[in-house]
Amino acid sequence: MIPAQFDYVAPESLDDVLAALRDGGEDAKIIAGGHSLLPLMKLRLAAPSLLVDLRRVPGLSGIQRENGSVRIGAMTHHHDVATGGLGLASTAASTIADQQVRNRGTIGGSLAHGDPAADMPAVLLASEGTVTVRGQSGQREVAAADLFHDFLTTAIGDDEILTEVRLPLLQGYGFGYQKFNRRREDWTMVGACALVKKAADGSCEDVRVGLTHMGSTPLRATAVEQALRGKPLDAASIAAAAEQAAEGTDPPADLNASEEYKRHLARVLTRRALEDASS
Ligand SMILES: Cc1cc2nc3c(=O)[nH]c(=O)nc-3n(C[C@H](O)[C@H](O)[C@H](O)COP(=O)(O)OP(=O)(O)OC[C@H]3O[C@@H](n4cnc5c(N)ncnc54)[C@H](O)[C@@H]3O)c2cc1C
Repeated sequence: MIPAQFDYVAPESLDDVLAALRDGGEDAKIIAGGHSLLPLMKLRLAAPSLLVDLRRVPGLSGIQRENGSVRIGAMTHHHDVATGGLGLASTAASTIADQQVRNRGTIGGSLAHGDPAADMPAVLLASEGTVTVRGQSGQREVAAADLFHDFLTTAIGDDEILTEVRLPLLQGYGFGYQKFNRRREDWTMVGACALVKKAADGSCEDVRVGLTHMGSTPLRATAVEQALRGKPLDAASIAAAAEQAAEGTDPPADLNASEEYKRHLARVLTRRALEDASS
């Protein structure tokens, strides 16, 4: 439970963070809230030679609404997202672990870590949000669909920083968030988030469904979306669409649940999330 030895710096600007990452090479790692990285270091599953702390860099925290979207600084804590009145994102953030974790963990850290069991990645995916990534050669926007490559692997390079998350405000969409775990503060066994826009005649104009812990990355349940789009938003259509929730998934079996049980959970939770989003 004692990490390997490491050096530590806490630069006061993004340029100095980038310089520290460059000088530290591939064994240098950013630390934000430390609530995913430190447990890995204590288990010796990660042994960075240099930790580059973001906490002194100005401008990386806070939530701002502008031009139909909301910008969330990478160092914004889960607690602030949970209490920020951001619909689906706030509801999902409020279910992360317990208050202590929500006070320290950050949205940027959660997305950069790329854990398929984490709550916020599927929310970013279903919302069709983007992240801003800064490196030595400048800044780029990465769409949620291009961010998550594999288990704990994202499009963010070792020498890059995720600086900001951008979520469209999605006016007119209802939302639902459902996750299953054994205890309130446990990691998600399976989670489903849904965003639904009703047409004037009450049918489904648009629907997005994100799944947590149903593969090595967060997933969009595209078969569910295709099955529901244009259909009436009644119990029968929602139930029929939700039956497709496990299509194209590859859930990892673990001590809590077999693959088949997770597929069952995905169908049930997707139906409930769609019902909430349509009500
Ligand atoms: C007991 C416990 C229970 C938890 N339960 C849940 C849960 O139910 N749901 C959930 O979603 N999460 C859960 N978490 C994880 C928690 O949400 C973490 O806070 C989050 O995953 C990582 O955020 P962090 O700020 O702590 O990142 P850190 O641990 O500091 O960093 C994580 C990784 O991301 C990289 N990184 C961090 N910030 C940046 C950045 N801005 N740019 C580039 N790379 C960056 C780091 O180098 C590291 O590789 C739990 C954690 C604990 C300890």
